[in-house]
Amino acid sequence: MKFKLLIVALFWFNQNFSQTISVEYIKKHISVLSNDSLQGRGTGTIGEAKAANYISQEFKKIGLKPVGGNNSYLKSFQYKQSSNPHGASDKDTAVKILNSKNIIGFLDNNSPNTLIIGAHYDHLGFGDDQNSLEANPKGKIHNGADDNASGVAGVIELARYFSNSKSKSNYLFLCFSGEELGLIGSKKFVDNSDFEPAKINAMINMDMIGRLNDSTKKLMVYGVGTSPSFVNNVENANTYFKLVLDSSGVGPSDHTSFYLKNIPVLHFFTGQHPDYHKPSDDLEKINFVGEQKVLEYIIDIVKKIDTEPKLEFKKTRDSNNDNAPKFKVTLGIMPDYSFEGKGVKVDGVSDNKPAFNAGVKKGDIIIKLGNLEVTDMRSYMQGLADSKKGDTKELVVKRNGKDELLKVTF
Ligand SMILES: [Zn+2]
Repeated sequence: MKFKLLIVALFWFNQNFSQTISVEYIKKHISVLSNDSLQGRGTGTIGEAKAANYISQEFKKIGLKPVGGNNSYLKSFQYKQSSNPHGASDKDTAVKILNSKNIIGFLDNNSPNTLIIGAHYDHLGFGDDQNSLEANPKGKIHNGADDNASGVAGVIELARYFSNSKSKSNYLFLCFSGEELGLIGSKKFVDNSDFEPAKINAMINMDMIGRLNDSTKKLMVYGVGTSPSFVNNVENANTYFKLVLDSSGVGPSDHTSFYLKNIPVLHFFTGQHPDYHKPSDDLEKINFVGEQKVLEYIIDIVKKIDTEPKLEFKKTRDSNNDNAPKFKVTLGIMPDYSFEGKGVKVDGVSDNKPAFNAGVKKGDIIIKLGNLEVTDMRSYMQGLADSKKGDTKELVVKRNGKDELLKVTF
């Protein structure tokens, strides 16, 4: 009996030590950062400053070098936010100055090359900057457990891992503010005169890595076209996930800022969900073991990158943001970015928005908007860019294999 117990104990011991990333730490970071007391970590708010202090303390415990300036991890910046971004004339537009900061820790292994590992730590606060997808967001705390407390937990735990392992590369660990307002913190970081893109081997971004679906095992990896080494490394390191790869270096998160400075980038994302940008993006919905698997996978990719010479950068298709369609309207749906078929699959519908009022349902696949065939995200966005407030258009969706004709009013 005792012998048996010993074997069980040894087995347990072994199991725990064979794992490189701790689920308990992931849980702890996300529960602190997505707690109501941080009031949704809006850019420039007291709640966000509390988050910045917590992350700094964790960097300090791990022993990272503070390189934000003045022996601190915090690098302050100012951002002028116009209170009326939706087309009011200049004289009606009030400008608010937001004071915020990025958080920067360095792990120096005396290498000529540095790998950046980053995630944004800001979120939507009380939902009053028009980015919330809740019907009536005002006054509701948007905790952002997945977006992006999950990514920040990833930065901290990867910092711990690489601090305890031998490596040929230096690592710069970054947490950005102002992402939700338009990648502000990462832009400020790359535009700073101290920043030397030539020394950076690659940038790894994590934005929403906490909602791995255990049955589909889908993991999105963006930016695989930004260096010729990436596709092989990303595929060879994978033993678990159903990968959805996207070559483009431009996407809706901070890696874009680095790609535009000719740095190879990879961005990890466990996928969209109906709680996206809503007050319901909470701790209890996080898949902690799933996040552990994502982080262990990223470690394996980094190890492969670190054995190679400095990565070659490659431009990917249409990287000019200025050509992206500009919208005057929204439909109020959450697209399923992992959908590979023809059209745009609806992963969630926001209450009381045009799609909701037209009768669009979760699971529908949008195939036509007005006269425009919707084949993918790009044509869908073009359809929105061609629409204006007050327009009524026909919207064709595939529902349970059949075409349904709906009428949408923007
Ligand atoms: Zn995010």
